[in-house]
Amino acid sequence: MTQHFLPKQQLQLLIDCLRAEGYGVIGPKVKDDAIVFEELADATELPYGIEEDSAPGRYQLKKARHKRAFAFNTGPQGLKPFLFAPEQELWRAEHTDDGLIFRQSFPAIRPLAFIGLRACDLAALALQDKHFAEGPYPDPSYQAKRQQLFIVAVNCSRSASTCFCVSTGDGPSAESGFDLCLDELDRGYLINVGSDKGQRIADKLGLEAASGAKRAVATRQHQRAVQQQERQMPDEKTLMTLVDKLDDQRWQDIAERCLACGNCTSVCPTCFCSKQESHSDIKGQASSQVRLWDSCFSEQHSYIVGKVIRNEISQRYRQWVLHKLANWQLQYGRSGCVGCGRCIAWCPVAIDLVEEARALCLGDKP
Ligand code: SF4
Ligand code: SF4
Repeated sequence: MTQHFLPKQQLQLLIDCLRAEGYGVIGPKVKDDAIVFEELADATELPYGIEEDSAPGRYQLKKARHKRAFAFNTGPQGLKPFLFAPEQELWRAEHTDDGLIFRQSFPAIRPLAFIGLRACDLAALALQDKHFAEGPYPDPSYQAKRQQLFIVAVNCSRSASTCFCVSTGDGPSAESGFDLCLDELDRGYLINVGSDKGQRIADKLGLEAASGAKRAVATRQHQRAVQQQERQMPDEKTLMTLVDKLDDQRWQDIAERCLACGNCTSVCPTCFCSKQESHSDIKGQASSQVRLWDSCFSEQHSYIVGKVIRNEISQRYRQWVLHKLANWQLQYGRSGCVGCGRCIAWCPVAIDLVEEARALCLGDKP
């Protein structure tokens, strides 16, 4: 694959080209002391010189030693809220003079280009595709949004202390699933093209071929990001042994710390559980059926024919971990964890998924 080079001051040109092709451009910004994805007006809004300091139960932004735009690793959100909205109307029913009318609701959809997604985000997207787009009951709004997506990935040049994508096989560099992929260097970006759509944009940028020296810097950055990862999730075969650990005392130990707040499932880029509610207007003339994110940590999530079947927090944490790490393998052919570390950083009581999986599967003593 030929690699090209885009000088730092021409990043705006990439944004302009995407906009000229009809895409709304979404990228990372600093908001409320976190990195979030939002519509970008121009490249100056990117988080230049900012990286995160994350650890179990901790996420703080700090100044990096350089002025790069993509020095951070992850924020609390990936692509998930854009394709699988936290709240979405599915259908409406209205009383009219002709009787009760039902209408399917469909959100307004426009082409979006995302800049700054990481290898773990792309792996999570592939998993969400399996659930929402490729399964027996596809979600038409997800499919429509997905088809219009343009992805500019960025390879990680460092790893946060909560990252473990090397052990899940999902990072720190993206190998597929992007239209363009950048390696950020001090003076610009190496660009790999991953699709015909990406080639069309690259052609408009008038790129020069990347020198061997620049490619060598990108390789060293990749190696450094790999070496910085200390956390290691057990391999998938080992994770399947969780299904034999249903009565392990460790679930009770975790439940004494876990608040069942559901933060871990909200920030997880692969969690897809939802619930539905009926919302009526005040006159009783119309009603809408709304899908909302749900969490296996909520009591009502396990309500079945008049009974909550997972009353205990230990049962809910066990459900999350067993599904995410073991039963996803039966359902989707791989574990549901892509090693992004978000659930570790955003757990208010610092419960560490890797530490718990290792304790349960390998008998590690935290
Ligand atoms: S389980 Fe945790 S580390 Fe794994 S993908 Fe979800 S948020 Fe990321
Ligand atoms: S593991 Fe942490 S983030 Fe998840 S529900 Fe328990 S307390 Fe909340």
